[in-house]
Amino acid sequence: MPSGERPRTCRACGKKFEYPIKGSAATRHHCEDCVAVPAETRKVLERLSSRVTQLENQLRRLQEKPAAPTA
Ligand SMILES: [Zn+2]
Repeated sequence: MPSGERPRTCRACGKKFEYPIKGSAATRHHCEDCVAVPAETRKVLERLSSRVTQLENQLRRLQEKPAAPTA
């Protein structure tokens, strides 16, 4: 992946952020806020964030097909 100037999505909190920014501690995968969080805690945030993303996708699917039969 080329490091362009499009906004990144933070893996831990889901925030959209610009990368790279001069003077910002943000990394390719984490926004400035989450970079300051200890790695162990960030791991938990990433897990929760991925669950939220999953739920959002599920919700979107349900909204598209309200009468979808589930197994
Ligand atoms: Zn973040």
